[in-house]
Amino acid sequence: MKRIILLAFLFHFSLAYAQKTENAPKLVVGIVVDQMKNEFLYRYADQYSEGGFLRLMNEGFYAANHQYTYMPTSTAPGHASIYTGTTPAVHGISANNWYDPHAKEIFYCVGDNSVKSVGLSTSAGQRSPKNLKTTTITDELKLFWNFRSKVISVSLKDRGAILPAGHLANGAYWYNDGVFITSSFYMDELPQWVTDFNNSGLANAYIKKGWQRFSPDLEYKASTADDSPYEMIFAEEDRPVLPKNLKKLAPHNRNADILKLTPFGNSIVLDFALKAIEEEELGKDAITDFLSVSFSSTDEIGHVYGTRAIEVEDTYIRLDADIAKLLNTLDEQIGKDNYIVFLTGDHGSAEVAQFSLDNKLPGGYIDTDSAAKALEEVMLTLHPSGMDLVETLEGNELYFDKEKVAAAGLKISDLAEAVAERFAYFPGIYAAYPTADIVKSASEEFPIKNLKRGIYPAVASDVIWVLNSGWMDYGSVGTQHGTPWKYDTHVPFILYGKGVKKGKIYRETNIRDIAPTLSMILQIPLPSGTTGTPIVEAIE
Ligand SMILES: [Zn+2]
Repeated sequence: MKRIILLAFLFHFSLAYAQKTENAPKLVVGIVVDQMKNEFLYRYADQYSEGGFLRLMNEGFYAANHQYTYMPTSTAPGHASIYTGTTPAVHGISANNWYDPHAKEIFYCVGDNSVKSVGLSTSAGQRSPKNLKTTTITDELKLFWNFRSKVISVSLKDRGAILPAGHLANGAYWYNDGVFITSSFYMDELPQWVTDFNNSGLANAYIKKGWQRFSPDLEYKASTADDSPYEMIFAEEDRPVLPKNLKKLAPHNRNADILKLTPFGNSIVLDFALKAIEEEELGKDAITDFLSVSFSSTDEIGHVYGTRAIEVEDTYIRLDADIAKLLNTLDEQIGKDNYIVFLTGDHGSAEVAQFSLDNKLPGGYIDTDSAAKALEEVMLTLHPSGMDLVETLEGNELYFDKEKVAAAGLKISDLAEAVAERFAYFPGIYAAYPTADIVKSASEEFPIKNLKRGIYPAVASDVIWVLNSGWMDYGSVGTQHGTPWKYDTHVPFILYGKGVKKGKIYRETNIRDIAPTLSMILQIPLPSGTTGTPIVEAIE
C-alpha cells in the first residue's frame, strides 16, 4: 500500500507541469562585471555588506570554478559567449576588433555604418549586433513570448550593452561623455525618460563629488600601498592616490568620460538601470522581461591601476553597495520570489607585469621591436620579398598577403610553419601555430583547444600565438587580459532567485553553460549555437 501511494505521488509529481506564466519569473537581471576575477568575491569580502555579493553567494547558487575555455579572453567575446551559450568559433565575435582577410579591413565587433547614432551627432552610435552570428538567450526569450517580453540592456561600453541585448531588444544604451546613447538599429529617437535622465546632470554631480575613500578609516589591507609605481597618474595629477578631485581632473582627462575610470561609472549605469525598471515597467506583468547590466568601470580601472590597487578595492566595495541597492529595489518593485539575477565576469586579468618582475613571479613585457625584427629575418630567409608578403598583424595573429604569396610561387602553409617555428622560441611566447592547423585539430590539449574555440573560421588568420603566463604587450602601469591562462579565465558565476536551487559547486563549469542553464530554468529554447550544457545542480 505504502509503495502504491509513493508511486502515485511520484506519478503525480512527474506530471506537475504548471501553466507557463505560473512558472515564469517576472524579470531576469543579467549582471556582467567587466574584468572581475573570481577571487574578488573573497579578497575584499571583509569589506562587503551582507546585502550585495555575499547575499547572492549565501542565498543563491555559486559555481566556484567557472572558466573561460577559449582565447581571446576579452570584453566582446566574453559578453557574446555568456549570452549565446557558445564560444567565438560559433558566435563569430572573435575579438573586440578583428581583421577580415577577405574584406581586407579591420572590423569593430559592434560597428555598423548602415545605422545612425541616436542621442548624439557623432558616429559613436553607429553600432549594432549584426556581427553576432547566433541567437542570444534574450532573443530566445523574446521569440518564446511572441515579442511580448521586454529586453533592455545598459553598459558604459557599447559592446557591453549591444551583445547581451541580442537582435530583438527594445533598447540597448551605452555611456558617451556624460549621456546614454543608442543607435537607429533599436529606435529613431531616445525615449523621453532617457532624455530626461541625460538632462538631469547626474554625471556632473558625480564628478563634482569626487572620489574619496569609501570610508575615511578604511585601511585597504587587501591592497598595495596607495602610491605605487604600477598605477597611472592622471594628467594634472601629482600622485596616483585617493582622494581624486574629479572636477579639476576631468577637463584634462576625457571630460565626463573620466567617470569610466572611477567607481561612479558603475553607479551611473545602475542609476540608469533602476530608472529603466521603473519607466519601461520591467517585471510588471506575468511575461518575463530581461534587463542586462554590464558594469565596466572595473575593467577601465584595472587597465590603469592593475589588480592590487586601493582604487580597485574601493571600486569593488562600492560595486557591492550598488548591487545591494539593486537587489533591494528588485525586492520592493518586483517581489522577492519573482525575479532571477545572475552575476558573472567577461574575463579576468593578469598581475601588472612589472609587479611580477619585481616579485620574482613569472612574467614580463614582450619586446615588440625585437619580435618585428625576428619576423623580418625569418621572412627574408623564405623569400627576397620578405615582409612584403605579410599583409598585417592584429592582436596575436598574422595574415599573409595571399595574392603576393601565390605570385611568388610559395605556399601559405610553408610560410606559416616557418614563422610559427621562429615565434615559438621568442622570449615571452609560449607557443605559436599555423592557424589552419588549429582549425583542423581534434586535440583536447591546452592551449590548442582554447585557440580553436576562439577562432571564427571564416576570418581565420595564418599564424597565431600565445604569450607565456604573466607576459603582456602593454605599458608599465595597469594590467591587461586576453590569454588562456587561469588569471584571465576564472570568473564568478552566481545564480539567484526563482527556480534556482541554492548551493555551491567546485567542479569546473564553463562560461557557455550560463545561457543553457537559463534556458532550462525559463523553459525556453536554447540559443541557436549553444555548445554549453545546463548546470543541473543550479536548477530547482
Ligand atoms: Zn579590458
